[in-house]
Amino acid sequence: MKEIRTRFAPSPTGHLHIGGARTAFWAFLLARKNGGKFILRVEDTDQERKVDGAISSLIQELTWFGIDIDEGPSHQELKAVGESTEGIPNLGGQAGPYIQSLRLPRYQEIANQLIESAACYRCDCTSEMLEKERLDQMARRETPGYSGYCRDRAVSADKPHVVRFKMPFKKTVVLDDAVKGKVTWEDASLKDPVLLKSDGYPTYHLAVVVDDHDMKISHVLRGDEWLSSAPLHLLIYEALAWEPPIHAHLPVILGPAGKKLSKREGDVFTSSFRE
Ligand code: GLU
Repeated sequence: MKEIRTRFAPSPTGHLHIGGARTAFWAFLLARKNGGKFILRVEDTDQERKVDGAISSLIQELTWFGIDIDEGPSHQELKAVGESTEGIPNLGGQAGPYIQSLRLPRYQEIANQLIESAACYRCDCTSEMLEKERLDQMARRETPGYSGYCRDRAVSADKPHVVRFKMPFKKTVVLDDAVKGKVTWEDASLKDPVLLKSDGYPTYHLAVVVDDHDMKISHVLRGDEWLSSAPLHLLIYEALAWEPPIHAHLPVILGPAGKKLSKREGDVFTSSFRE
């Protein structure tokens, strides 16, 4: 049987949310029960939302919970992104680096591969053009999204550009979710989403697929709010001829009003409970 490898993949945007800790706990337990490995991967591709010190504090919080991480950022990686290593276990592992901003060449390599196989294309539309397109679409009461203008244009790699995924037209995508059962999208018509930004950083969608594949993740356990991204991820796996991991989308913790537990409803960070 394939080794069970699960991961928790938070974005370092602040303190660990109690809902995130719960997701991490399930992934950890599944790995432990099966003699597998639990991996911590840091998804810091949105550098604007990154909070200094958040990665070190994440590791501390998880460890405090008794969640032992088998593979994750080493001290060297932490230092490379300006995080403290004091009192933090030196994790590391064979599938590293485990911090996405340290893996940029790999995402660029895969984006190029997708361009070569015509699953992706370069797009040099300016933000003014995209804004005009959005306003026109809204005026026509259409769902806003990229029109595909650059699909059949040969945009040079030397010009500033993003890399977009060519969404197949009216394709049915089925996910056999380990929690929800069969989920079907009749027409996964996201409009040619960006996979690689003009600064060379990947978006979440490209990075999550590449890393789950490269880190040999067998089960992706994550919150319900990511279910809507799953069809795009499955299409990227297909375009790369990679086998997708098993997905399990977990219900999120709700507050008394039936909405995702938020700061307004009191303590939501693990650090508050710890204190
Ligand atoms: N980086 C995402 C988050 O912040 C992870 C989603 C996933 O697990 O695929 O929750």
